[in-house]
Formats: sequence, C-alpha cells, structure tokens
Amino acid sequence: MTVYNFSAGPAMLPAKVMERAQAEFCNYKDCGNGIVELSHRGALFTEVIERAEQNFRDIMGISDDYAVCFIQGGASMQFAMLAMNLLEKGKSADYADTGVWSAKAFKEAKLFGDAKLVCSSKETKYDHIPAFDTWTRNPNATYLHITSNNTVAGTQYAKFPEVLPGVPMIADMSSDIMSRKINVNDFGLIYAGAQKNMAPAGLTVVIIDRTLAGRERAVTPLMMSYQRMIDKDSMYNTPPCYNIYMLGLVLDWLEKQGGVAGMEKRKSAKAKLLYDYLDESALFRGCAERTSRSDMNVTFRTGDAGTDAEFVKFSLGRGLRNLKGHRVAGGMRASLYNAMPEEGVLRLVETMKEFEAKHHV
Ligand code: PMP
Repeated sequence: MTVYNFSAGPAMLPAKVMERAQAEFCNYKDCGNGIVELSHRGALFTEVIERAEQNFRDIMGISDDYAVCFIQGGASMQFAMLAMNLLEKGKSADYADTGVWSAKAFKEAKLFGDAKLVCSSKETKYDHIPAFDTWTRNPNATYLHITSNNTVAGTQYAKFPEVLPGVPMIADMSSDIMSRKINVNDFGLIYAGAQKNMAPAGLTVVIIDRTLAGRERAVTPLMMSYQRMIDKDSMYNTPPCYNIYMLGLVLDWLEKQGGVAGMEKRKSAKAKLLYDYLDESALFRGCAERTSRSDMNVTFRTGDAGTDAEFVKFSLGRGLRNLKGHRVAGGMRASLYNAMPEEGVLRLVETMKEFEAKHHV
C-alpha cells in the first residue's frame, strides 16, 4: 500500500526526485564521488548551484532586478535577518498578524526596532485573513510584512494587499511558494524555508529587490547581510550544498509538470476535493473561514478531541501519515504541497467517508 505523508514540513518530496537522488547519491555524474562529497567551489557543484538558481528564476519569473540567495538558518532566521537589514532606525515596520509564524516574525522584529501590527486574527484562533480595509497601515512604514500562507491555522491570502508607494512588501512564502503564480515585482523581498515545496530542511531561499540590499546595520554579522550574500553568490561560506542540489531536482520535476501554472491547477483541484467533502460532512468541519482557506494546509476537526485522535489512528491504518494538527491548533491538518499526488487526497477523502459512515452516523 502506498503511504501518503501529509506532514506540514519537512514534507514529502516527489517520488521521482527521491529516486533520482538515490541513484546519484554515491556516484554523481560518474565522477566517482557522491554529491555530498563535492567541493562547493568545484566545477560540478558550481554547475548545480548555477543551474538551480537559473531554473528557479525561470520558474518564478524573477528579473535581474532581484537577487536570489540560498541561505541557511531556516525561515525563522529571516525573521531577524530582514529586520536587521531593513528596519531602519527611527522608522517603523508594519506586520500583519495572521498566524503563529507571523507573530514570531513580529516578535523578532521588535528586537531590532519599532514594529506595529496592522491587523490580527489571533482572537479567533487565526481562522481568517482580516479584510484589507480594516488594516491600520502606516504610509511611511519601512516595509510591510505578511505571511502568504499560514501553515498552522490553514489560511492563505487569496489576494495580496496593495503596495503603498515607498513601502516594500515582504512575504514569508514558506508554505506556498511555487504553488501558485505570483508577481515577484509586487514584493520587495520574499523568503521561504525549503522543507515544504522545495527541498529538505536546511535551505532558505530569499528573493530580494537589489535596491533593498546594503542597508544593514553596522552590527549585522556578515553571515546575515543580504549584500554580502549577493556579492558572494550565496557562497560567503559553505552553502547547504545537498539541499541546493535537491532543489535543482525538484525544479526539474516541477518544470515537467507544467511549472507553477501546472502546480496551481493541480493544487486547486486537490484542495477542492477535500473542501467539498468537508462542506458536506456531518462529522468533520473545516477550521478556517471559507474566503481565507488555504490550498496548502487544510485544517479540520470533528469538535471532539477524542474523536479527532481516533480518526488520526484510523487514517494511519489506511496509509495516511501525519494528519494530526499542530500542537497549538489541535484537530487535523492535511498538508497538500506540490508533491502530494491527487491519489493521496482521494484516499484521504475515502478514509474520512469510511470513518464517518462506520463510527458516526
Ligand atoms: N514561516 C512559516 C509560514 C512556516 O510554516 C514555518 C515552519 N513551519 C516557518 C516560518 C519557520 O520555518 P523554519 O523552521 O525553517 O525556521
């Protein structure tokens, strides 16, 4: 029985990618050494990183006005790094509080300067993205920070807020990057941890408008300076070589699936299967408000913690792993990232129907 992994991250990677990685692991391109043994400055790895960056640029539609950096430290390090680089003294940054990760980004920014919340859905367990006309934005903010997809609560921006002149929009796209078309030019900076839609954990991709680099504070460690990372082509120190290689394989795979447009079509179809069932089920219900629903992380519950736990156990027996919700949210969460095949979602819906029919008529 195929086992489907619904983990929110580190998440499943495409089976074809895993197979190729396995085949190339010990003897990369017949050089006699494994991919993890290659010098990051050697010709073979240089080709890997350059190709990964070019393919990423092509797939995301990134112009030369933007730099692409491969950085370690996770998306969480970006919470601090972006503030150190961009939160100018005497100015204030705007943050939208739409989930636990947004809240962490905000908390981190406050270590470095003035940051203000423009909205919050915390009161209702982050079940929606607050309507833009309720946001209290500062037209002189140094930047606006949003989280495009809220991995824990299962909400996602259907549309992005308006860009105010002189206020670059910064987005944490960790859990929906490369799943839908976006216009990179609408953003000053985009960052994403790799472990959901891109590669194994350990790599964070940063897309930055070059004009925003070079503004870091004097105390900024060199490792945390965007300008330094750009100047050194992400090789100021040893980069996360294996993860960059894996990203390259995922990008090759993604290209064959029709690129981001192909992913967008598929992810909408996959999420619809599950949401349609949730809307008709007498037992399960979705946690997020309809207009804010995430196509990446579908959160749902029965309303009874014991029944939720029973379902998670039941689903394991049907080859469905990691459906337990985040510890702060409870309930269930099905992460439907790019690598999740439609068959996995169909199995999940069948399993939910079976559980509902057998146990809770
Ligand atoms: N932002 C979002 C939206 C996330 O989902 C996560 C991790 N789940 C993070 C940030 C933190 O990522 P990392 O563990 O790579 O620091």
